[in-house]
Amino acid sequence: MSKFWGPFVKNLVPYVPGEQPKLTRLVKLNTNENPYGPSPKALAAMQAELNDNLRLYPDPNSDQLKNAVARYYGVQGNQVFLGNGSDEVLAHIFHGLLQHDQPILFPDISYSFYPVYCGLYGIRFDAVPLDEQFRIAPADYAKPNGGIIFPNPNAPTGCLLALEAVEQILKASPDSVVVVDEAYIDFGGETAISLVDRYPNLLVTQTLSKSRSLAGLRVGLAVGHPDLIEALERIKNSFNSYPLDRLANVGGAAAFDDRAYFEQTCRLVIEHREWVVAQLETKGFEVLPSAANFIFARHPRHDAAGLAAKLREQGVIVRHFKQERIAQFLRISIGTPEQNQALIDGLGEL
Ligand SMILES: *Cc1c(COP(=O)(O)O)cnc(C)c1O
Repeated sequence: MSKFWGPFVKNLVPYVPGEQPKLTRLVKLNTNENPYGPSPKALAAMQAELNDNLRLYPDPNSDQLKNAVARYYGVQGNQVFLGNGSDEVLAHIFHGLLQHDQPILFPDISYSFYPVYCGLYGIRFDAVPLDEQFRIAPADYAKPNGGIIFPNPNAPTGCLLALEAVEQILKASPDSVVVVDEAYIDFGGETAISLVDRYPNLLVTQTLSKSRSLAGLRVGLAVGHPDLIEALERIKNSFNSYPLDRLANVGGAAAFDDRAYFEQTCRLVIEHREWVVAQLETKGFEVLPSAANFIFARHPRHDAAGLAAKLREQGVIVRHFKQERIAQFLRISIGTPEQNQALIDGLGEL
């Protein structure tokens, strides 16, 4: 704190991201990055773009990437918004579409950036408790609200909400924007993008950080009705006209065009997830059903913080949240078979 700080910054409570250790020998299963590299075609496209043109600004509209996304999902270009990571896309959504008289709704156990955006933009919220099985109960969202947002699959639980349940939430709140944060949808769910033409209040966000292995590139997107997209474009163009750089534009487009690589790596992550779940269950863990590239698990007889510390000593890092209802859970990203084996070995006999 310093005398130069305004009252606004004094009261901000920022998001704390998972650790990005400087040590490279650690088995890093704490921030849900993809264990496989980006599409070789995406890497080649970015390498080809490393030239004298970097002195020039990028396309402010990122048309090449927007068209690749639109093609992939069978929507129009004016239904797609792009940002510097989906965190930035979400920030603009909170700023422009979730600021109303009523509080917004999101699950009590959810992406911990949501309350941070509420703090940043002065938005009131009601945290809606997950049910006993840590699932989202659609009926609980059928009440007056200024907007609704939830990840699907949810984070950090990994639990998936079926598309009919998403539709139930949309139908109950036709006058507010419903944001489905699909950061992990490619690992076992069905995207709600198929619903955007029928629900003008639906906005679906996705990221290239997880299923397309490009967390380091920072590309995220939203798909929805052109009116919602226009609101986001207005904010973006009042904030930063060039959020996506030249490498992100070409690399992101090539990643979307390389379906075969994407499908293959998603399949591998899902397959290895099922192996990790089986191994953990053998050790006595309770594992929530996951449709994501991570699992959320607790052991009836071992303290989660203690297990995380023990794993760390073996060079394996996982995520532990010091939050009431979930303090006994560990969130573990799915790695390569070798990394997953290191996790199981690191837990040892329990
Ligand atoms: C990882 C994640 C994001 C952010 O992704 P970026 O595109 O890397 O900013 C958004 N929502 C959820 C639920 C996530 O887990």
